[in-house]
Amino acid sequence: MSAPEGEEWTGGCLCGALRYRAAKGPVRAVICHCEMCRKVSGAPLLSFVHFPLDGFQWSEGEPSYYRSSADAERGFCPICGSTVSMKETVLDDRVQVSLGSLDRPGDVTPDDHVWTQSQLPWLHIDDRLPRYPRNSPAAPSLAVEAD
Ligand SMILES: [Zn+2]
Ligand SMILES: [Zn+2]
Repeated sequence: MSAPEGEEWTGGCLCGALRYRAAKGPVRAVICHCEMCRKVSGAPLLSFVHFPLDGFQWSEGEPSYYRSSADAERGFCPICGSTVSMKETVLDDRVQVSLGSLDRPGDVTPDDHVWTQSQLPWLHIDDRLPRYPRNSPAAPSLAVEAD
């Protein structure tokens, strides 16, 4: 994606207790409309950016984790509560951080929308990105949600 070559990607939570850096650029970014992402963020949708585990580090603090399903944990700041990350057992080669936690979120263009079957009816985004009712073929997932 469009990060200047050799430049690190950085981000963190609202209060600054959690900070991270990624030496390698994102391998994927996704906009998720599922109910769990909505609940955990309090927002109509949630976007995650996937960085290779290799080269990623928490430079300040460590997230607390909430196990939201058998295969996924949600990382958040224990002080300010910001949603900062997501771990999925089938994607253990990468770290997913919330797009809004990036210092320069505008540098990332998401690849697609997933779980649009749960998208809020009043939300219309004319970005022409691929849209999938459930998971995207771009990444393995064990996510399931009632139809
Ligand atoms: Zn914080
Ligand atoms: Zn989701």
